[in-house]
Amino acid sequence: MANYVDEIKRRRTFAIISHPDAGKTTLTEKLLLYGGAISLAGSVKGKKTAKHAVSDWMEIEKQRGISVTSSVMQFNYQGFCINILDTPGHQDFSEDTYRTLMAADSAVMVIDASKGVEKQTRKLFKVCTLRNIPIFTFINKMDREARNPFDLLEEIEKELGIRTFPMNWPIGSGKEFKGVYDRNKKEIIAFKANNGQHEVEATKVDINDERLNALIGEDHRNTLVDDILLLDGAGYDFDLEAVRNGKLSPVFFGSALTNFGVEPFLEEFLNMTTSPLPRNADVGLIDPFQNEFSAFVFKIQANMNKAHRDRIAFMRICSGKFDKSLDVYHVQGGKKMKLLQPQQLMAQDREIIDEAYAGDIIGVFDPGIFSIGDTLCSPSNKFSFGGIPTFAPEHFSRVQQVDTMKRKQFVKGMSQIAQEGAIQIFQELGGGMEEVIVGVVGTLQFDVLEYRLKNEYNVDIRMEGLPYQYIRWIENSGLDPKTLNLTSDTKRIQDLRGHHLLIFANEWSIRWAQEHNEGLVLAEFGKG
Ligand code: GDP
Repeated sequence: MANYVDEIKRRRTFAIISHPDAGKTTLTEKLLLYGGAISLAGSVKGKKTAKHAVSDWMEIEKQRGISVTSSVMQFNYQGFCINILDTPGHQDFSEDTYRTLMAADSAVMVIDASKGVEKQTRKLFKVCTLRNIPIFTFINKMDREARNPFDLLEEIEKELGIRTFPMNWPIGSGKEFKGVYDRNKKEIIAFKANNGQHEVEATKVDINDERLNALIGEDHRNTLVDDILLLDGAGYDFDLEAVRNGKLSPVFFGSALTNFGVEPFLEEFLNMTTSPLPRNADVGLIDPFQNEFSAFVFKIQANMNKAHRDRIAFMRICSGKFDKSLDVYHVQGGKKMKLLQPQQLMAQDREIIDEAYAGDIIGVFDPGIFSIGDTLCSPSNKFSFGGIPTFAPEHFSRVQQVDTMKRKQFVKGMSQIAQEGAIQIFQELGGGMEEVIVGVVGTLQFDVLEYRLKNEYNVDIRMEGLPYQYIRWIENSGLDPKTLNLTSDTKRIQDLRGHHLLIFANEWSIRWAQEHNEGLVLAEFGKG
């Protein structure tokens, strides 16, 4: 039996994040190829083969159908065992991305070189910086016309508030893409367009080598020398500590499609990242190398297989070794149990596993008992990891079922989808479940809710948009919200645990509430 400490040491767990179409899937495929996890690129997911003008949520649904294979993948490379966590590319699901980042020790951010940090995905990229984990940037599609690399770096720094350090530097782009200069090795990796062939040959040449002019041309060489001078002079110094604290992002230029710059990226990435990190719990930091198993749930996906109506809870193992015969303790449920059908994902295959280690992600069958943020630990050493905070919803709708005979399915569907963390449910003060107020972070989630209730629970709903944008939890216990002095466009509601909240149409009304109700304490986030 392999020593479990060695197994944990060789683990690297990262999330991959991008705006749709930046090349996340393509990069993931190439990485898996290096690990020999798949034999043919193009097999990670088939979503792009038929690209019609399908609405976004249909796309999401299609992805969900195969998301078991794409949401977590594991492969081995040069002795490392690497777990890639996929994230949804749409900004409306940035909360989902955030939860996935909670399960990762670092993040890889893929950016389209012609587009940079796209406006509509600022929020998505921004969540990357919330946890202070190392962020690696892969600027993709250099084989296409790209924006000025200095501008791209400046944009990343400005948008994300993180410093950048280019590990390599591009020489031209598009038809004129000649390759990259590796700043560490001080050599050029030449890109030779290969007549439409997707894989290119890389040649390594020292920057002072006479062959360079022939390889990239004099103009490019001059620009490169100037650029490097500028970078060395004005750029940030490389600082591994800052990388590991998420303050400095190493940046790589490349082209995933042509497999250019992917392997050097992977190698540097492995050099700079660490094995699984300790996690915060109510008893202090939990050492991943401790003998006893622990994990937390960061994602729940229901109905992935329509025939079975199954529900899978994804958990990140935080310490020790998991073995399928193991008794674990579910802290929030207060129960000792065995995890059912533990599975791990290797590219396309879902495999039932016998063992897994800290750093790994396993999916287990969930009979409806787990919630996001739940802790699993050893029955002899109980503790609880810090929960995963929920984002404050920014859009609200009143939701009713059309056919009142289907109350049971409606309540079940709504509660399950809420348990997955896709929506948040609120009620009128003293109200029931026949009519609820749904809050979401992105409006696309409303479409998904409607679609899933119909397809998975056979329930039609009526949805009416409400003009609120801000939510605050009332922290004062025992305060009757009816006694509050509020603007007429402020609404008093409660969450499913009976906590009182206010939803506001604008910031002005929030200020009004605070100014006219002495001692009122309002919190922006719900308790996870
Ligand atoms: P995702 O939505 O981020 O997963 O993006 P995909 O990996 O599906 O890529 C979107 C499109 O960009 C596909 O048509 C890819 O073939 C293409 N693409 C990805 N990487 C590159 C690249 O390096 N160069 C070029 N020219 N196209 C690329």
